[in-house]
Amino acid sequence: MTKILLIEDEESVRENILDLLEAENFETLAAANGKIGIELAVSETPDLILCDLMMPNMDGYEVLEKLNLQGVTATIPFIFLTARTAKSDLRKCMNLGADDYLTKPFTSSELLSAIMTRLEKQVTTLKYISKINKNTARLLPEFQILKNSLLKNLANKDLREFQIHYQPIIDTSSGLIVGAESLIRWQSSELGMISPAELIPLAESTGLIIPIGEWLINNVCKQTKIWQDAGYKDFYSTINISITQLIQPDFSSKLLESLAKNNLHPSSLELEITEGIIDKDLNIAINRMEELSSHGLRIAIDDYGTGNSSLIYLKLMPINTLKIDHYFIHNIDKDKQKSTITKGIIEMAHNLNLRVVAEGVESKIELDIVRAHKCDLVQGYLLSHPLQVAKFEELLLTDRQLIA
Ligand code: C2E
Ligand code: MG
Ligand code: MG
Repeated sequence: MTKILLIEDEESVRENILDLLEAENFETLAAANGKIGIELAVSETPDLILCDLMMPNMDGYEVLEKLNLQGVTATIPFIFLTARTAKSDLRKCMNLGADDYLTKPFTSSELLSAIMTRLEKQVTTLKYISKINKNTARLLPEFQILKNSLLKNLANKDLREFQIHYQPIIDTSSGLIVGAESLIRWQSSELGMISPAELIPLAESTGLIIPIGEWLINNVCKQTKIWQDAGYKDFYSTINISITQLIQPDFSSKLLESLAKNNLHPSSLELEITEGIIDKDLNIAINRMEELSSHGLRIAIDDYGTGNSSLIYLKLMPINTLKIDHYFIHNIDKDKQKSTITKGIIEMAHNLNLRVVAEGVESKIELDIVRAHKCDLVQGYLLSHPLQVAKFEELLLTDRQLIA
């Protein structure tokens, strides 16, 4: 149940709003002044706070400033209730980090609409929390909203809200599209577009990455086969695999099953594994990769250069491809060190018989530099964003030559 804290000194206003919230099935907490409000915010971590601006002793500005100073309360959506309409007051509210304000008197539907909008927008905060410890994330209300929605979606194996986009991978010598990276998208009917940066950590921590991953692998195999049969016979796709997937005991058998079912040769798939994530289950991960590699699947290390044990991986793992992280490519023309490091990685990779992909190429000059360094393959917004299947096909048919 969504918990809302109301901080309001006027009793009649407070009672009115509480009645309204309760009628809408919100759990409510009430405080008659800022001090009690802050205590309740800290001890109860509500999902949203409504706070009167003008209160004796401590006004709403001060309440918000104090909440902003504490980790647990700083990210709770905060809506001011105010009788003041001067632009300068409203600007001050927003500058302090309030999410919205309602000018009194407001109708019940205005209040409810502001609350619902804020609760939904709150899920974007996940962008920040996905980087932190999963256990902490689990406690946060916005994580719960997203998680419930994901669970609901998967309860009936209903994956209609998920889509796979494909970003062209281009060979720098021929200039042609030779493959595609598959990237998941979740168009949630409840929450809007959820990016992989939010979805993947959530799917991992809930275990839902397994059914989602299986669905994705099967679909990518099917799609790759369609493109090969359409005449692009060496076309390959890459799939991002998270460590949770990789260490499943039946990961290889299920993957091989998908390949066989779709009549696709294993070398038509490349599994992208992010460098930084492997540390924990290194041995299992290596065994799994060896097993897959022995069946002809290709393996790429993704986001290369940003993890902490880059070189030992090259020695221990059956790798075919290095994908140089976007970080090194971005502004490579203005940063001599990035250019030197990129050139060095490419030379080393070639000596180890690995192919190299430059990720996130966004400008002509970045493309020219990685080509001059003899990078084999490129991906990036300069050439194409990730595309829906129909758009990707259009590009393949009409404009496969992306580099002159
Ligand atoms: P990644 O595998 O490194 O994918 C590349 C990301 O960079 C994609 O973001 C892509 O849209 C974006 N990108 C492509 N070209 C450019 C460019 O020129 N400039 C910039 N700034 N970005 C560019 P996306 O799709 O948001 O995915 C983010 C990450 O989420 C991926 O990073 C990957 O680690 C993960 N991910 C995506 N789809 C899946 C999936 O199906 N399974 C798993 N396990 N992880 C996935
Ligand atoms: Mg990738
Ligand atoms: Mg990458």
